[in-house]
Amino acid sequence: MKFAIFGDIHANLEALEAVLEDAVEHDCSHYACIGDIVGYNANPHECLEIVRGLECPVVKGNHDDDASLDTDLVGLNPLAEQSMRWTREQLTADDKEYLSELKLVRQVRDFTIVHATLDTPSGWGYVTNKFDALASFGYQYTPLCFFGHTHLPVFYSKTSSVEVEDGQTIEIETGKRYFANIGSVGQPRDGDPRASYCIYDMGGQRMVNRRVEYDLKAAQQKIRDAGLPGMLADRLELGK
Ligand code: ZN
Repeated sequence: MKFAIFGDIHANLEALEAVLEDAVEHDCSHYACIGDIVGYNANPHECLEIVRGLECPVVKGNHDDDASLDTDLVGLNPLAEQSMRWTREQLTADDKEYLSELKLVRQVRDFTIVHATLDTPSGWGYVTNKFDALASFGYQYTPLCFFGHTHLPVFYSKTSSVEVEDGQTIEIETGKRYFANIGSVGQPRDGDPRASYCIYDMGGQRMVNRRVEYDLKAAQQKIRDAGLPGMLADRLELGK
């Protein structure tokens, strides 16, 4: 059984469609989403419809949380804030209800999914090195946990961190625990503009990072047409 684990889609429909196509081509039959379906890019409602249609486990990201509320936006950078105001206008009441009801942490088979950290999932902290990862390991009760939030694909164990590249496979060692950042579908930030996700092969006990080309120009044009900040379109091309 192969799971496609994906997230940080950020309303990038072209990237999401390309990733799901790639997952099918690679025999994935199951899905799990680590959140941030919306925010930044131009198709929040459409991306939500697709993810909901998969009927897979999904956890809440900070942008999903912000989009589901009507409260003042605090702590967001100006780009994210402008995009979030626009995103809230695009979502239906039903979309917002779905997002508001998402859980922060879920266990799926022999793995866990969370958006940011396991130690304080609602604090939206960033895991950027193996010392940050250690705090989450204290709350990880399955051999594997998949997360996102930094938009950088890095697989952590208690003693190491591996920045994973396209096609890189990690064989899962029995008794070892992994906290695996799967990178971002819709706004990668590691300098590689291709969409990032992870295939977890449960039977074969391995994880593979995948990078997928998508119609970046179309995604950029939609951002500009929607009147969203041009920087959001520019950064997609830079992978930043
Ligand atoms: Zn994100």
